[in-house]
Amino acid sequence: MIVVMKPEASKAEIEAVIRRAEQMGCRPHPIFGEARTVIALVGDLTQVAREVFDEMNGVSNTMRIQEQHKLTNRTTRPENTVIHLAGSNVRIGGNEVVVMAGPCSVEGRNQIIESAIAIKEAGARVLRGGAFKPRTSPYDFQGMGEEGLKHLAEAREITGLPIITEVMTVEQVPLVTEYADILQIGARNMQNYGLLNAVGKVGKPVMLKRGMSGLLKELLLCAEYIASNGNYNIMLCERGIRTYETATRNTFDLNAIPVLKQSSHLPVVADPSHGTGYREYVPAMAKAAVAAGADALIIEVHPDPDKAVSDGRQSLDMETFGRLMGDLRRIAEAVDRVMYDPNEEVDVLDQLAELEALG
Ligand code: PEP
Ligand code: MN
Repeated sequence: MIVVMKPEASKAEIEAVIRRAEQMGCRPHPIFGEARTVIALVGDLTQVAREVFDEMNGVSNTMRIQEQHKLTNRTTRPENTVIHLAGSNVRIGGNEVVVMAGPCSVEGRNQIIESAIAIKEAGARVLRGGAFKPRTSPYDFQGMGEEGLKHLAEAREITGLPIITEVMTVEQVPLVTEYADILQIGARNMQNYGLLNAVGKVGKPVMLKRGMSGLLKELLLCAEYIASNGNYNIMLCERGIRTYETATRNTFDLNAIPVLKQSSHLPVVADPSHGTGYREYVPAMAKAAVAAGADALIIEVHPDPDKAVSDGRQSLDMETFGRLMGDLRRIAEAVDRVMYDPNEEVDVLDQLAELEALG
C-alpha cells in the first residue's frame, strides 16, 4: 500500500503518517518525489486499514499496489530514479545515456589504466573491471582480488572515471564498497538474498544483473530486497538469458528494457557483451538497446581482446569501441537522449544540468 501525501503536506504531517504506520506494525518507506511524497508501507499489512490514513492531515489518498514489488514500482514513484555517482558529474537514469566500459577482468595495472584512458577518450563515463570473478570453472582465473581493486582506484585517480566492479559474497561487501562507486551483483548472484540484504545496507549504488534464468518479476523482487534495506540507488541490468539458442552465448532480451521501464522507476542498463557473447554482434545490440530506451550500457572492451584472460571473444578493441560510440550518439539523439561527447567544445550535459536547475 502507498500513502500519497498532498504536494503541500508538511514535514510534521509526513512524520505523523510514518509514526502511525510503525505503530500498526508495518515498515514505512518515505519516497520523496519531485511533485509529491509517497510513503510506501511494506511488511505485514493484514491489520492495516486504509481509512486510518485517508483521514490524516496532509494525506491525498491511499492506493494498494497489486504487484509484489512495491518500493521499486513505477506507481510508487512515477518519475525516473536518477542516480548521481558521488564525486563526479555522472547521472544514470536522466536524459543522458551513460556508457560504462572496460575489460571483463582487471588483469594488471597497465592493462586497466590503458583501458581507462582509451574508453574515456571515446566518451565512456564509467570504468568497469572485475577484481572478483565468478567463473564457471574453479580452475579458471578467479580475479586479482584486492590488488585489482587498487589498480581500479588508481585508474579512477588518473582519469576521474567512477568505477563499477563485482562483489560476489557478503564477506567481500565492506572491502569492495571501500573502492567501488557502483557495486555490481552478477547474474549468478541475482537471487543471493543474503548478498542483496548486505548491499542494501551500504550507501553505494548497486547494479543488479538479471540471472540467466531469472524472470523480470524475479529481478524486480531482487531489487526490492535491496530497496527494502534502505538503498534505493539500484540499476537493473539485462545481460541475456539462457534459451535453446546456441548461435549466441545468451539470448539478449531486448523486451526487458521497455517492460522494466514500465514497471519500475529504476534505471535500466543493457549489457550487449554478455547478451551476445560475440564481439561482432555487440554493436547491433548496443544500438538496439539505446533505441529501446536503455539508460546506460555496459560494454566489455580490451586493449588486446584475443589475449584477454576472460570474455575476450565478446570484447571490443578500442578502435571498434570508438566507432560504436559515434553511432550510439546518433541513435541517442534520434530518441531524444544525449550522450557525452569528449570532442564537443561546449559541454551539452553541463548546459542541460543548468537548464534543469533553472526549471
Ligand atoms: C561480468 O560482468 O563480467 C559478468 C561476470 O557478468 P554476468 O554476471 O552477467 O555473467
Ligand atoms: Mn565478463
